[in-house]
Amino acid sequence: PRSMPYVGRFAPSPTGPLHLGSLVAALGSCLEARRQRGRWLVRIEDVDQPRCLPGAGELILQQLDALGFEWDETPLWQSQRIALYREALAQLQAAGQVFACACSRSELADSALARDGSRRYPGTCRHGLPAGRSARAWRLRAPAGLIVWDDALQGAQAEDVERDVGDFVLLRADGLFAYQLAVVVDDAAQGISHVVRGADLLASTGRQIALQRALGVPTPAYTHLPVGTNAAGEKLSKQTLARSVSTLPPAAALCRALKFLGQQVPPALQVAEVRDVWAWALAHWSLAAVPHQPSLLLDERAR
Ligand code: GLU
Repeated sequence: PRSMPYVGRFAPSPTGPLHLGSLVAALGSCLEARRQRGRWLVRIEDVDQPRCLPGAGELILQQLDALGFEWDETPLWQSQRIALYREALAQLQAAGQVFACACSRSELADSALARDGSRRYPGTCRHGLPAGRSARAWRLRAPAGLIVWDDALQGAQAEDVERDVGDFVLLRADGLFAYQLAVVVDDAAQGISHVVRGADLLASTGRQIALQRALGVPTPAYTHLPVGTNAAGEKLSKQTLARSVSTLPPAAALCRALKFLGQQVPPALQVAEVRDVWAWALAHWSLAAVPHQPSLLLDERAR
């Protein structure tokens, strides 16, 4: 097979400042791209405007810069790419691969399947809107059968999107495009060959591959890094009040993320210059050393 040039990316949602958990994804994706002599891009995923914190995208870029990251193209902002998402949806509409859905959140919550604890869409509007109802959202017709892929860290994966998730939303009732559509359109438009990100997104990968196939774009290679959790086992995030990386000296933050990723960091690097940490990391980065667990404790406390 023809091999694509290596292009990696870090795609943070600007819901708050960069924290140690998101630094892990930034560092892992960047070091792996550099190791493969590839390019590395940054994309600010601010498509879900109501969830975004004003100024957080700019802050994340400043924090990455202060940590010594260098990206190869001007960062892309999803809020400025709505026309492309609309085009992709129009392509799927023309091909009959999506349908309009009238179901409200509460109707779906009341459905028999939802009562069994399933989050699967029951297919209510799949064959047309019920009489007298109007379109709220647009959903992809989920393909039947297993979607299989090989994750570089998490191993062989298989997901039956149709059975487990069902037809999923691409254009939301509030008029916003769903993350799943935006990420697939942008990864394809930017020529991303390798997606390296947190294992919390493993559960989105099947849907993203289904969407890539529907749109006729290539499927990148996937590597899902362990996700950092707090002592309660919760993913570090804005919701769990993860601390900003800026509360740590930059070299110490980088070393903390490297250690979390299983790298044998010499202790002296913690008090070294940022450029010395990068020189060491670029020379020694090993994906093979990264733990395969989907989640691991990441101690945020200053030591
Ligand atoms: N924007 C997503 C997040 O921060 C990540 C998207 C991705 O890496 O595919 O959770």
